[in-house]
Order: sequence, then C-alpha cells, then structure tokens
Amino acid sequence: MAPSYDVIVVGLGGMGSAAAYHLAARGQRVLGLERFGPAHNLGSSHGGSRIYRQAYFEDPAYVPLLLRAHELWEKLAMDSGHEVFTQTGGLVIGREDSQAFAGTLRSAQQWGLDHEVLTAADIRSRFPTFKPGADDLAFYERKAGVARPEATVTAHLDLARVHGADLHFVETVFGWQADGPGGKAWVVTDRGIYTADRLVIAPGAWASNLLSDLGVTVTVERQVMYWFQPHGGTGPFTADRHPVYIWEDPDGTQICGFPALDGPDGGAKVAFFHKGLPSNPETVDRRVRSEEIGAMAEYLRLRVPTLPTRFLKATACMYANTPDEHFVLAQHPEHPRVTVAYGFSGHGFKFVPVVGEILADLATEGTTDHPIALFDPRRVRPDI
Ligand SMILES: Cc1cc2nc3c(=O)[nH]c(=O)nc-3n(C[C@H](O)[C@H](O)[C@H](O)COP(=O)(O)OP(=O)(O)OC[C@H]3O[C@@H](n4cnc5c(N)ncnc54)[C@H](O)[C@@H]3O)c2cc1C
Repeated sequence: MAPSYDVIVVGLGGMGSAAAYHLAARGQRVLGLERFGPAHNLGSSHGGSRIYRQAYFEDPAYVPLLLRAHELWEKLAMDSGHEVFTQTGGLVIGREDSQAFAGTLRSAQQWGLDHEVLTAADIRSRFPTFKPGADDLAFYERKAGVARPEATVTAHLDLARVHGADLHFVETVFGWQADGPGGKAWVVTDRGIYTADRLVIAPGAWASNLLSDLGVTVTVERQVMYWFQPHGGTGPFTADRHPVYIWEDPDGTQICGFPALDGPDGGAKVAFFHKGLPSNPETVDRRVRSEEIGAMAEYLRLRVPTLPTRFLKATACMYANTPDEHFVLAQHPEHPRVTVAYGFSGHGFKFVPVVGEILADLATEGTTDHPIALFDPRRVRPDI
C-alpha cells in the first residue's frame, strides 16, 4: 500500500508546481502527479516568456494579487538561483478609449500605481521600434517585465523536492474521490491509487476531464507564438532597452510582444492575445502554417516594422478560457477537501507564485487572506 500524503497535487504545470512548492515548504507531505515530463511544452506554460504587469485592464481586483506576486517572483529568483523574472518596463498601446489602454489607466489610478502616459510622439522618440498611429497613446509601467515559464516551473519543482515532495512524472490521473474509504481523498492513476487528506487539482487545458462537475466550462483556444529576427539584429530589442508590450487596434485586436531574450540569434517573440482557434487538448494542431506566419508578419509591418524581417520559429500553446475569462480558484463547493485552480484564460502566468500561495492557504487552512471572490465557481452556477 502506497503511503498516505497530506496533499496530492494533480498537474505540475504553472499552478500545480507552485502549489507543490508552497505546500512542501509549509511542512506538508506532498505528492505531485503530472502526465507529461517536468516543464514540458504540451500545455500552457512554455515558450520562454510571459508578460507580467501590475495595472490590470481585465479587472482592478487582480491588482493586490499582482503586487504580492511581484514579491514572490523576487523571492523565487533568490531561493532558486534561476532567472525566473526580468523587469523590462511595459507599454500598453491603444486609442484613449480602447479596452487595454483605458482599463489599464483606470486600474492604475484606482490603486495609485506608478505610471506615465505617453503620446504617439513620446512613444516614437523613447521606443523607436514602434510606429504608433497619430491617435495612439501608451501607458508605461516601469515594474512590468518578463516571467520565464519553463524556468519558473523548474524552480518550483526543484524547491518542492528540496522540501521533501514526491513528484511523479509521466503518470496520468484518471479520477479522484473526495470522500473515499477511510475518510480520505483518493486519486486513481495509470500506475496506482494514492490517498491523502486533501487534493489540489490544477489540470490546465485538461480541466474538463477532471472538473466537469463544477459547472464552469473551459473552452480551449490554440494560440501561436512567433519569433522573428529584426532587421539589423536584436540591438534595439534587447531587454535592457525594449519593454514588453500589448497593442490594441481600433477593431479590438490585441498583440503581445517581448524584447529579444535569447541572445543575438534568438529573435523577439510576438503573439495575438485571444483570436486563436477553438481546440481540444488531445487533438490540438501543433503545426503552424505558413499563412499564419505571413498574417502575423503582415500585421507587424505596420506597427513594429523592423521586427518581421526573418521568421525564426513558431509554436502552439493553449489558453483554457472560462466564459468571463476570470480564473477559477477556490475550494470545491461540494468537497471542502479539494481545492481547484483552472481556467486561467490566457492571462494566468504572471500570477503563478501567488496562486501557489493561495492554493497552499486553501488546502491547509480552508481559507486565504488574498482577495479571490472574483474566482468563485459559483459565479457561473449559483446552485452549487
Ligand atoms: C501563447 C500563450 C501566451 C500567454 N501569455 C501570457 C502572458 O503574457 N502573461 C500571462 O500572465 N499569461 C500568459 N499566458 C497564460 C498562462 O501561460 C497560463 O494561464 C498558465 O500557464 C496556466 O497554467 P496552468 O497550470 O493552469 O496550466 P499548465 O501549465 O498547462 O498545467 C496543467 C498541467 O496539468 C497536467 N495535467 C492535466 N491533466 C492531468 C491528468 N489527468 N493527470 C496528470 N497531469 C495532468 C498537464 O500535463 C499540465 O502539465 C499565455 C498562454 C499562452 C498559451
């Protein structure tokens, strides 16, 4: 009979690896179960970079979590010695009434966050890689930067192990039971059965396999990341000179972009924010077609004209979208032994360390001081 654990964490991607670390660091006996390898590229947490920002157009309620996440990114960098976060500054470019610019400014004003507002002429002179329209403005935030997904997952897994966690890879969870025999929670995998006092379930794009009873459905969206080598080399795009950016067009289309992070030959990455194809985690098309690459290059030519000079590579990733694009992060309404984290809707990575802390709070204390009311699954189905 396998040993019984305090907590089993299902899924060791962005959120699950952070939970495993925070729980193990609190002295919990943790088992982590992951169907693929450590820091793999088949879910939502790969591709080398994720934008971190503090002023949040999606809802100002996220801001306190982002401030705590910043402290935890710094601590994780120190504790692990991995380069998990780089401050580069960040721009949100758009018309005055665009969702991204107006919402970001509103949330900064509400929370008193440090920022500057730049006119199109300011943008062109301070950040000459951009070609804004005459009516574009930019919100500039110095504390924005780049989180590194693979390094972060690796750092959390390494630290979880240091604190005694058992981590199993290439082991798929088929099902779970919160009130199994002996008053324990049970998890069944392709290799065995494990018991624990509590479960944390963080399955990313595979949420519908394990959490369909919660009523918050997840739609999986395929999203491609593209790397281009800029004209004349990466010089103006290096992280000490170039911010992360979100750019919203008058038709609502948004792109996210990054500085060149991987040396002179690594290029700079861009992706559309949403606008991806509906998909399924088992059958998602991981090939990227030349028409897709051409469409992104064409889009960039008008906005970041020196970037799409030479295409380097592209890779597909998955968003796990809830209907309102807010997360699900809560104790399971019917099973207090079970804590769930999913539906991060293409904007979750910047929260990874604070989500780990919240999951550890919920699994050990049943409650958290962090403001998470927005993420209650009952917002969609008040009957459960
Ligand atoms: C292209 C792209 C760009 C993005 N850009 C940003 C950005 O700039 N800023 C930002 O903040 N966020 C961004 N995101 C979103 C962010 O990366 C995700 O919200 C976050 O990575 C989700 O983490 P997760 O732990 O929920 O999912 P994952 O990291 O995918 O982890 C889920 C894990 O569960 C495992 N699993 C699932 N089912 C089982 C099972 N039955 N048994 C065992 N293991 C299982 C999976 O294998 C996986 O490892 C982006 C996402 C993509 C795809």
